[in-house]
Order: sequence, then C-alpha cells, then structure tokens
Amino acid sequence: LIQLYMPLNFLGIVYREIRQALTDIERMFGLLKQHREIADAADALDLPAERRMAIEFAAVDFAYEANRSILHAVDFTVPAGHTVAVVGHSGAGKSTLSRLLYRFYDVSGGSIRINGHDLRQLTQHSLRAAIGIVPQDTVLFNDTIRYNIRYGRPDASDEEVVAAARAASLDAFIAALPEGYDTRVGERGLKLSGGEKQRVAIARALLKNPPILIFDEATSALDSATERAIQGQLELAARGRTTLIIAHRLSTVMNADSILVMDGGRIVERGTHAALLAANGAYARMWTLQQRENDATTEPPANGVVG
Ligand code: ATP
Repeated sequence: LIQLYMPLNFLGIVYREIRQALTDIERMFGLLKQHREIADAADALDLPAERRMAIEFAAVDFAYEANRSILHAVDFTVPAGHTVAVVGHSGAGKSTLSRLLYRFYDVSGGSIRINGHDLRQLTQHSLRAAIGIVPQDTVLFNDTIRYNIRYGRPDASDEEVVAAARAASLDAFIAALPEGYDTRVGERGLKLSGGEKQRVAIARALLKNPPILIFDEATSALDSATERAIQGQLELAARGRTTLIIAHRLSTVMNADSILVMDGGRIVERGTHAALLAANGAYARMWTLQQRENDATTEPPANGVVG
C-alpha cells in the first residue's frame, strides 16, 4: 500500500496543478465561455507578418445579444504607429472595441480590417500573434514571477525576461523579493498590487513584441506615483506600435494622436486633447469634472475616473 501511496500522492499533486492552470486559463479567457466559438473561415489566410499595421473600423455595428445593439456605425482608423485612445462613461462600449479587434466576437455589421484584411478572412492564430493585450485585470499564474513574465513569449531567454522586466520598471521590485525571479506569485504565492500586475502585463507584451498593442486601463484607482510610472511604461511600449488605449482616466490620453469619445455605443467626438478642449463639448466637460475632482482630493482614489 505504501508503495502505491507515493505515486498516487504525486499524481494528486500533478492533477491539482493542472486543474489550477486550467482554471487560470479559463479565467483569462472567461469571455470565451459566454459566446459561441469563433471559427476560422475554410479559406482563411494568415495575416502577413509586417511591423507596420493599420487598423480600420468601418461602419461597425455590434450586439452581444439579439435585440440589444451595443455599437452603432463605429468608424475610425488607427494609422500604423499611431496611438488612438477611447474614452467615455462606463458602458459606452469602449472595451467592446478591443474584444472585437481581438476577434472574441464577430461584428454584426460593417467590418474591421488590419492592413486591408477583413478579420473574418484571417486565421485567428495569425491575428492574435500580431496583437499584444495589456488587460484591465491581469491574471497571474501560480508560478514564479519569471514564468509569469515569460508567458508573453515562452521561448524567451532568461536575459530577455530580465530586459522586459527592466523595461516595464519591475526590476527593482523583483530584486527586493525574497527569491528574486524565482519568487512564486499568484493566488497561492505573493499577491501583487494592481499596478504591479499591470506592469507584469506590460513586460509580457514587450516580450511578445507585437505590431499592435491594446491597453485596457485598470478601472481600479492607482496611487498617483504608480499611475505616472505605468503611463511612462505605456508610452514606451507604444513607441513604434499601432496602439489602442481603452482609457478610464483622461490623464492617460493627453498625448494620444487622436481621442475618440464614446457615448451609448457611438463616437460622439474625436480629435486631439487640445482640439477637443477647444471644441468645448463632452470631452471638455469630462476634463473639467476631472480637474474639479483633482482639486477636491489630495489622495487620488477618485482621481479622474471617467468610466
Ligand atoms: P467600462 O468603462 O465600465 O469598462 P465600457 O465602455 O468598456 O465600460 P463595454 O464593456 O464595452 O463598456 O460594454 C458596453 C455594453 O455592452 C454594456 O451595456 C454592457 O452591459 C454590455 N456588455 C458587455 N459585455 C457583455 C456580454 N458579454 N454580454 C452581453 N452584454 C455585454
């Protein structure tokens, strides 16, 4: 019996590890369970691998469920290498744009194209290889911090992992951990703050080195020092890439090439920060409100959160 116990016990541990990994992946792609699978077209093509990629949303309509339209005739382009930010109140449809670009769902009307290729005609594998996502809430695997960063590109060398961590300003944080890069993190290890987790996600994206970057800003309030640090990392990560920022704080978007203001699934205004302030419309009102909140609070939890 004892001879049986050891292997069985070992199998039990392996089983629990696999269960946990599956749970992590399910959580990460939790969206997938909520809708029918998107399948590759029979004649789907690989997106030609190029460093410069332009994104075009043309008259995009979308509904998660029949009878409840979410996006209405959404039209915009992100020229190769540009940064476009999307702002608007909660529920306006901002994150839906990023889910459609990653093709978690297909559009109900209109089209989304990358370098002229309709997403529905591309293999999902080649599409997703071209896009790095820094999500709102990064899932950490119950493994080492090294493993968690390397997840961005599993064949990356240790040196490349360290370089990505440095570029995402994680190196000082990791150096102070009890076992450095071998420290276990995640639910059963060291818990990371929202800002630290988002920096892990930025390091993953830098390792993956994709031509397109989607940054879905954390809704949770970060302290102003962390917010500034992440803003700096983000601008670095966006350099030379086509970037879509789903923004909850207006401070993040001031330097974007163009800002889209969404309301009720429509783009109601667009332009640069300066042009939108001069237009004195919805964006200017959000900005004034944020400034007032900033003045009213010294600690920034409520700092300019618009959605
Ligand atoms: P927030 O700033 O709060 O993240 P958002 O502008 O990103 O909001 P979306 O997440 O794009 O808004 O949601 C737009 C609308 O779509 C909302 O009314 C939301 O309830 C609805 N919605 C989002 N996800 C789903 C889903 N999986 N199934 C059905 N409706 C959904």
